[in-house]
Amino acid sequence: APAGYRPDPQLLRGKTVLVTGAGDGIGRAAALAYAAHGATVLLLGRTESKLEAVYDAIEAAGGAKPALIPLDLATLGEEQATQLAQSLAGEFGHLDGVLHNASLLGERKPMAQASWDTWQQVMQVNVNAGFLLTRQLLPLLEAAPAASVIFTSSGVGRVGKAYWGAYAVSKFATEGMMQVLASELENTSSIRVNCINPGATNTTMRRTAYPAERPTDNPSPEAIMPVYLFLMGDDSAGVTGLSFNAQ
Ligand code: NDP
Repeated sequence: APAGYRPDPQLLRGKTVLVTGAGDGIGRAAALAYAAHGATVLLLGRTESKLEAVYDAIEAAGGAKPALIPLDLATLGEEQATQLAQSLAGEFGHLDGVLHNASLLGERKPMAQASWDTWQQVMQVNVNAGFLLTRQLLPLLEAAPAASVIFTSSGVGRVGKAYWGAYAVSKFATEGMMQVLASELENTSSIRVNCINPGATNTTMRRTAYPAERPTDNPSPEAIMPVYLFLMGDDSAGVTGLSFNAQ
């Protein structure tokens, strides 16, 4: 986002946006921020009680009525993705944006000792599910005047690092998926596609990856929202194929 970006309080008024991993961490903060700026937010995640808590917080703050989509991306297949797209088409007719935020950290180990099960799970949740959801939702995104697709990257998705295994590989794949899709849509569609690398942020995932760190040394998810708002709203119209740092 441009330095000092200050979103209009009505930035997302009338828009319908989907957030994956909306029950906790950065996804929760993004869902709340999008709702606070006027959006109807579709809350997708695997732990229904957490989604319900976000739902209640949005209602309590006077936001537009959200929708709950309890779904485990670890087991998402073509059929379920198609069903989801059909039900969203029926209920909303179009989609103004998707924030692909849900991810698994997996294990911090040398590749030589990586578990095959964990490897496949991380690639499924972080890459394959994002692909499937995006492919099935493209018609709904095309039906919006200028939709925004945001993928979530990481520092280890730009420079590989020891012991980051499948997670790092999945984030390189995410950057690649964003570039391929952005390039395909650039001249034929009004859909824009970009990545955000949140940078070190105080969430469960960060605390798990860096147990020795003092959690409060990193910014809260709420503090990194400007770029999430910028890319979701019309201020970023025409911006596509880029990877942003939230910090
Ligand atoms: P958290 O682990 O705190 O939150 C991740 C969210 O994704 C949780 O709500 C989790 O659900 C959900 N999720 C995980 N697996 C699935 C699944 N199989 N199906 C549906 N939902 C799922 O992570 P962060 O908020 O820290 O991370 C958000 C994004 O930012 C991720 O893509 C991460 O890789 C990226 N990132 C984070 C950084 C950081 O410092 N925090 C740095 C760089 C990148 P549940 O609550 O049920 O576990």
